[in-house]
Amino acid sequence: MRFISGAGLASLALLLGVLATPAEAEEPTAQVAPTAQRAQVRAVHEIKVFGRSVKGREMRAYRIGDPTSTRKAVLIGTIHGNEAGPAKILLNLMDGPPVTGADIWVIPYLNRDGYAKNRRTNARGVDLNRNFPVSWVKQGGRYYSGKKAASEPETKALMKFLTAVRPAYVVSLHQPLNGVDSSYGKARWLAQRLVAGLKLPKKVFHCRSRCHGTMTQWFNKKLPGAALTVEYGGKVSKRQATVTGPKGLLSAVFASR
Ligand SMILES: [Zn+2]
Repeated sequence: MRFISGAGLASLALLLGVLATPAEAEEPTAQVAPTAQRAQVRAVHEIKVFGRSVKGREMRAYRIGDPTSTRKAVLIGTIHGNEAGPAKILLNLMDGPPVTGADIWVIPYLNRDGYAKNRRTNARGVDLNRNFPVSWVKQGGRYYSGKKAASEPETKALMKFLTAVRPAYVVSLHQPLNGVDSSYGKARWLAQRLVAGLKLPKKVFHCRSRCHGTMTQWFNKKLPGAALTVEYGGKVSKRQATVTGPKGLLSAVFASR
């Protein structure tokens, strides 16, 4: 893992590359930001490259909040590359005043190759959210689960990252089913706080049959914290992206700004 500490010029350029490039088709090539833009990224104080995609794109996590806090959270967007609407909420979280109350890692674009092509799967056609090594089964088509469990570099990198951070809370943001998954007893309280804060309905998601090899299944089985899926609708409204989403996510992990 590579650590880039502080808001150094290099990390700032990298970060702004993401903020300034709606479609991350190419690696960011942003120039060093003018001072006026600097204030917009003041919530981020560390950028970690925790892996690489099949095509070699950097997988990046942005740390906001209080790094000394024992309350740790990881917020993940775009594990499905064509569900990038909620990433706007995460970018807005990174884009405001400092956050207190929790140590939060934000991953706006987990599946970078899929995002670059506006495609659900990674570059090898694997649905990353069916590739995790709990209840994994061979699935085909749109839900192709890979040659074997954890076959994909993105899956392995996220497992390693989450195992190292050991967050109390993991939220994985999707579209378009519009609701907060409340099927895990372990994540019951987190689900309740998200329903209240994000103003989304409480639902149970069955992955169209039974879930196999999802990130939340793996995390909830293997690590002590609670993980759940939040589905936005087909379109994330401006209010959701700028007000309800960032505020609701922070309050769900007992943080604020
Ligand atoms: Zn999804």
